[in-house]
Amino acid sequence: MSIKILVVDDQQDNIDLMCEMLEDNDMVALEAQNGHDALVLAKKEQPDVVVLDVQMPDMDGYEVCRQLKLDETTAHIPVIFLTATYSSEKSIVKGLDLGAYDYITKPFREAELLARIKVMAKIKKTEENVREESYTDALTGLYNRRFLEKRFSEELSRARRANIPLACLMLDIDHFKSINDIHGHDIGDLVLQDVSLILKKNLREYDTVARYGGEEFVIILPSTEYHDAITVAEKIRRAVEKIIIQKDDTMIHTTISIGVYGATGKRLEQNAEQFIRKADEALYRAKGLGRNRVVPHQDLLNEP
Ligand code: GH3
Ligand code: MG
Ligand code: MG
Repeated sequence: MSIKILVVDDQQDNIDLMCEMLEDNDMVALEAQNGHDALVLAKKEQPDVVVLDVQMPDMDGYEVCRQLKLDETTAHIPVIFLTATYSSEKSIVKGLDLGAYDYITKPFREAELLARIKVMAKIKKTEENVREESYTDALTGLYNRRFLEKRFSEELSRARRANIPLACLMLDIDHFKSINDIHGHDIGDLVLQDVSLILKKNLREYDTVARYGGEEFVIILPSTEYHDAITVAEKIRRAVEKIIIQKDDTMIHTTISIGVYGATGKRLEQNAEQFIRKADEALYRAKGLGRNRVVPHQDLLNEP
């Protein structure tokens, strides 16, 4: 994949020069002549590096950088400032303090600028890998609890803002301890992986499924009424019940219990932790009622 660079400069001549150089070196160059366009493009195109002129009318490079860093979707993109030769140490430090990773003085030396861009792109890639790993459960490849909690808060805010429903499922594999005890830990791990696959297969792209604990999973269902969440849960429950997990001569059936909770309007005012706890309470009831079943939280039953 070639490196994608956003070049921001108020002088079209400078842009042309820079873009030509980048393209000659197999990079993809995008251009913006002012801060506003730069912010829109950066958000939409997610470049690997932004090369940003400091002196521009209206919005200067510092302000563009500040706004890039404020927006969660662009904050991670490395910024290289292009400063005039007469730039003081103070203005360079100001740029770096704003979150720029590097600066280059004009007129720039080609090889140097290219080398610096490549370093920045590499740093960004490494940071992305680290971030992805820190949000992933190694055994199942699903998101982990840390990511789930972050995403849950985001989905809650979105639901409140847009006044749309939000639902959540808490799942737990039934009698999982005895699978480990009878067949061994490796088979237990395989069951976790196979169940994870079923969960992924049965969800929509914008649903989030995470491994919450040992054999517990949480699913966030955005824009979903609790009635529909029950239907989704029932579909998953049946899919898991049907699979045969196989290794060598061992064949295993397993089942899951699911607690359902959902909210709209005023009830969205609780935080992520309280929301998940409700689903967990429903799960606890599902276990008590005999397992391998879907149980909505009691708060939901008193509603139309
Ligand atoms: P219940 O139907 O009430 O949920 O019973 P259970 O046996 O599934 O529940 P319990 O919480 O007693 O047991 C969960 C077991 O999950 C215990 C633990 O050793 C096992 N476990 C947790 N993480 C892993 C894992 O990563 N791999 C394997 N193989 N087992 C795990
Ligand atoms: Mg269990
Ligand atoms: Mg458990």
